[in-house]
Amino acid sequence: MSTNAPEMSIELSERINKLEASATLAMAAKARELRAEGKDIIGLSLGEPDFNTPDFIKEAAIQAVNDNYNSYTPVDGYVELKSAIITKFKRDNNLAYEPSQIVVSTGAKQALYNVAQVCLNDGDEVILPCPYWVSYSDIVKLAGGVPVEVKTSIENDFKMTADQLESAITPKTKMIWYSSPCNPSGSIYSKEELRALADVLKKYPEIIVVSDEIYEHINYVGGHASMAQFEDMYDRTVTVNGVAKAFAMTGWRIGYIGAPTTIARACNKIQGQVTSGANCIAQRAVITALEAPVSNIQYMVDEFKNRRKLILNLLAEIPGFECNEPEGAFYVFPDVSYYFGKTLKGNTINNASDFSMFLLENANVATVTGDAFGNGNCIRISYAASNEQIIEATKRIKEAVS
Ligand code: PMP
Ligand code: GLU
Repeated sequence: MSTNAPEMSIELSERINKLEASATLAMAAKARELRAEGKDIIGLSLGEPDFNTPDFIKEAAIQAVNDNYNSYTPVDGYVELKSAIITKFKRDNNLAYEPSQIVVSTGAKQALYNVAQVCLNDGDEVILPCPYWVSYSDIVKLAGGVPVEVKTSIENDFKMTADQLESAITPKTKMIWYSSPCNPSGSIYSKEELRALADVLKKYPEIIVVSDEIYEHINYVGGHASMAQFEDMYDRTVTVNGVAKAFAMTGWRIGYIGAPTTIARACNKIQGQVTSGANCIAQRAVITALEAPVSNIQYMVDEFKNRRKLILNLLAEIPGFECNEPEGAFYVFPDVSYYFGKTLKGNTINNASDFSMFLLENANVATVTGDAFGNGNCIRISYAASNEQIIEATKRIKEAVS
């Protein structure tokens, strides 16, 4: 059939029509498109380490290919991988899980999707402290859930307080989702702060917590705390993690959960119908990644820490960029509301989306609007980029807004 033939009109589902496209991936695609047109775009939109996957992990993958790991894996992951995950949870988080509580998925994103699908009924409310990671609200909505945004402030380091949590709870609250270290704010909940939230939840034993710890190792202040470490929270917390960020393995697509057995079994059931499990070679490589000492990846964390300092210093020289000091992950989340209502190079800036688009078009720098993370005053800038790119991008931004 000719590719020029007019496409018949296809009516898509209401479900997909209501879904927002991922703003992070959309911006990365736009930057790629502009680059293909010959524009010199600096991409600071995507949260993706700019390192190569460490050699010792690549070698494990090559070995797995040569050892003929080519069949379907157990739906919830290889026994050896689940065992490595259990050891990791014990070693890094002092969390004890049984194999029946672990499910390996195609990225932490699918792990989150599974959990939403198996826990939520139509109309169930999910509390999302803002800013939250871009996909949370749409993953919740796809499962019929209703995101309930809790606004936080830069003064409180973008963290939800116990009082705010208490006020957001209604009889329909089913879950709370957060990431710590947080994408996009870089904030980290201390053990005491998590305890204060857990104290509120004592009164609501039916509420399930999703603790997304994918940036666990990208921590510049030390002291990672997990909600499941509290005895009274363990039975209703899903701990989500993955290898994308810490091991520079975004494209390998492996994430996992440690969860109450009922939830883990349900996630296994959904994967059995939807994916049959995660990629076999990537799973073998992740066994090696997780069994290695964390010190093997410290060089990347050290580098991110240097870049954090660099970008904070450079942004401090630009008027109207108000930043908190991120304690982890590799993003800065400046409040740029100073520019709202102003005209820059003939463009009226009404909101963070306008500002992010202005930077793309006038500074050739790709960032992501804070609206996508539930905070319309900010933009997100990823500093998982080289020093040269950070220096050049901030120079261009400074020139564009002056
Ligand atoms: N959670 C957070 C907070 C993230 O930033 C990301 C970004 N990748 C994910 C989950 C998804 O991770 P993965 O690439 O393993 O799907
Ligand atoms: N998590 C990364 C980000 O926030 C990757 C993009 C995505 O998965 O949406 O940029």
